[in-house]
Amino acid sequence: MTITVRFAPSPTGQIHIGNTRTALFNWLFALQNNGRFILRFDDTDRERSKTEYADQIETDLAWLGVSPHFVCRQSDRFALYEQAVEKLKAAGVLYPCYDTAEELERRRKIRLTRRLPPVYGREALKLTEEERNALEAEGRKPHWRFLLPNFDTDPFSPQRTEVHWDDIVRGPQTVDLASMSDPVLVREDGSFLYTLPSVVDDIDLGITHVIRGDDHVTNTGAQIALFRALGAVPPEFGHHNLLTTVSGEGLSKRTGALSVRSLREDGIEPMAVASLAVLIGTSASVEACRTMNELAARFDPSTSSKSSAKFDPAELLVLSRAIVQAKSFDEVSAQLKELGIDGPKAEAFWNAVRGNIERLTDTAVWWTVVEQGPVEVELSDDDRAFVKAAADLLPPEPWDHGTWKAWTGAVKTASGRKGRELFHPLRQALTGRDSGPELAELLPLIGREGAVNRLTRA
Ligand code: GLU
Repeated sequence: MTITVRFAPSPTGQIHIGNTRTALFNWLFALQNNGRFILRFDDTDRERSKTEYADQIETDLAWLGVSPHFVCRQSDRFALYEQAVEKLKAAGVLYPCYDTAEELERRRKIRLTRRLPPVYGREALKLTEEERNALEAEGRKPHWRFLLPNFDTDPFSPQRTEVHWDDIVRGPQTVDLASMSDPVLVREDGSFLYTLPSVVDDIDLGITHVIRGDDHVTNTGAQIALFRALGAVPPEFGHHNLLTTVSGEGLSKRTGALSVRSLREDGIEPMAVASLAVLIGTSASVEACRTMNELAARFDPSTSSKSSAKFDPAELLVLSRAIVQAKSFDEVSAQLKELGIDGPKAEAFWNAVRGNIERLTDTAVWWTVVEQGPVEVELSDDDRAFVKAAADLLPPEPWDHGTWKAWTGAVKTASGRKGRELFHPLRQALTGRDSGPELAELLPLIGREGAVNRLTRA
């Protein structure tokens, strides 16, 4: 049997680093098992779901290096859910309810004062056909609940009914079906809540492993019962811990906080995002993996901690820098070209500046320095005279990385300056900066003409 997983976002906003964790846990699990990865858009909420968000999610996943084997949308699959509804009704496990939110709240409070669990008391199951007809005649429309199999013969006397599964992240899990209300599967207006379409699709698409956030653990108990009610064998489950911001708040698709898109636009490397999203909150050390296969080799879902993990963007920058600095020219040449960095100097330029950048886009600033010179330099009058004089000592071309040493040696002898007094004004005049890549590497790229111009106009 081919291992098949799915990532099932609702396209109601930008996916963030927490959603990325879910997507990548699935993707890496598929990679490790030579399996299939399905992208399923949970877009039954027609008002909040947007095609733009779905498209953006596909773009974000592609950027991360995740390429689904199959993409589908729940909004194309309503007929399947209707069939499942009929099947459940015929089996007598989907029943109409007319309770209003106020009625439910009032009963919930009464149950709490009686020290009963605040779950739905199945009052609607007691309605006779006439009572139901009368309610419908008043214009009331039913919502539909799934009758959880948590009783022997009398649904009004639920008994502890344990559902067990061996969670691939959390280990053995138990949920008591008597501790929860019969879930509403279909709303008054006929629209579906998340539970039923998810199970129907997991069956239809042959999902073997459902890997998702641990906010779904309780759902899983009810969903396992639903799989069985629909005549299917439940898949395996895995529930990973969630990520929060540094201050401990949950991440939300709606606020756009730490969205994949914003990280991409900020020039962060995709493998830095992937490495941190996967390895944070596990017992493995967080390291910058350069490829998905490298990350897959380190990925072990069972090492995830059970509590939530704080996601620190500063850590992301450290990983991103490590990844970008380790890249060869071949790996970056196409992206450099997009930044306008091209031609015979490009490779030597990359090797000169890569140790001094945080993001690939930082190369653009150094390219301008090399090609056009600094916009502004900060030098005293003394230093200006000094660099002008130094220009006369520039050796003839061809230049290589030994030129800097030979030239500054000659300047040292002629001026009597040494150390910072010698080097700092030269660096300022040539680059407009106090620090940066090795001048031995930059000088041949600037060339004699460029160097003379900078030193004499400083
Ligand atoms: N659309 C659901 C969510 O984003 C999917 C949960 C699941 O993976 O079953 O929470």
